[in-house]
Amino acid sequence: MRVAVPRETAPGERRVALVPEVVSRLSAGSFTIAIEHEAGAAAGFPDEAYESAGAEVVDGAALLAGAEAVVRVIPPSADEAAALAAGTVLIGFLAPLTDTEGIARLQSRGVVAFAMESIPRITRAQSMDALSSQATVAGYKSVLLAADRSPKMFPLLMTAAGTVAPAKVLVLGAGVAGLQAIATARRLGAVVFSFDVRPAVKEQVESLGASFLELGVRAEETAGGYATELTPEQQAQQQAELEQRIPEFDVVITTALIPGRPAPKLIPASAVSSMRSGSVVVDLAAETGGNCELTRPGEEIDEHGVTIVGITNLPSTMATHASQLLSRNVVALLGLLARDGELVLDWDDEIVAASCVTRPKEVAA
Ligand code: NAD
Repeated sequence: MRVAVPRETAPGERRVALVPEVVSRLSAGSFTIAIEHEAGAAAGFPDEAYESAGAEVVDGAALLAGAEAVVRVIPPSADEAAALAAGTVLIGFLAPLTDTEGIARLQSRGVVAFAMESIPRITRAQSMDALSSQATVAGYKSVLLAADRSPKMFPLLMTAAGTVAPAKVLVLGAGVAGLQAIATARRLGAVVFSFDVRPAVKEQVESLGASFLELGVRAEETAGGYATELTPEQQAQQQAELEQRIPEFDVVITTALIPGRPAPKLIPASAVSSMRSGSVVVDLAAETGGNCELTRPGEEIDEHGVTIVGITNLPSTMATHASQLLSRNVVALLGLLARDGELVLDWDDEIVAASCVTRPKEVAA
């Protein structure tokens, strides 16, 4: 089975869908890998590394010629989608809940598209869980950004010049990214608090050495482990409670998301105005509108001395490890879709059925 790996063309996207380590494994089996010239360069993987791993490094039309599957990081542009032959299997983050135009384009091309976001979060699919692998990277990086932007050090220090108090960090949303942010901030020595609307995470937060902030706001948890959206009254209560507590903190990292919905607004502008000068907000939800009312997606702003970091696509800023983890997720899914080099789409398999977001009628069960 021939698998093509294009170079990502979106501005700022440094990741690559397959790294040489997994190319070696695939090429040793029944796969032929064609990778576009310099596809891994921005993630630290030169063409030579792919050649040594057994891939063909190609350019232009040769990339897609004869490829049964195309694996990429983020959705293809209109031109990239137009180049896909009918029946091609496409694997990647495809934004199935929000990019209706992109999904319609793939459907009209007759592409058999599998979205990494749609893989059910069941135990058997853990090795394919790219949302988790990339959220882990984002959570880690959010703390490094906060530590860098903060004029304070994170750990408690007892020095000859006296004691330095540890930084106080608040992590809002304790899913995969939030828990990694808590763990990273703890490793740096900060005193960490966290809040999530899913009551089940309290224990996880405490097991990482952080304290759970009691705000008296609770949401339901869906079967997939996600939070449901708060009612407008609950949202107002959450904002009011946070407004009281936020001024205590040097750093606030927000990671709250509701799949397919705009990010919940947790921090109103009035809460930012009550923060001390020098405080930092890192908004991991910037891409879907931000958890902070003042966040500007893709930008870093100063609001009366409070830095609000809205940088998007943090996994891309740690492209080597983000790509390594992502490509292991991709290979795990590929292993489910192909056996002995042949495409075998078992629509009775819940992972295959749930992650497939477009397919032509003749490929239907
Ligand atoms: P996510 O990225 O969709 O959301 C991040 C966090 O934001 C969640 O913890 C959510 O509860 C929280 N949140 C939403 N609205 C909020 C609000 N108004 N205030 C505060 N917090 C809010 O979620 P995720 O991190 O991708 O995953 C969430 C959960 O899914 C995990 O913690 C886990 O329980 C489950 N999960 C299960 C598996 C598995 O079993 N294989 C794998 C990954 C995740």
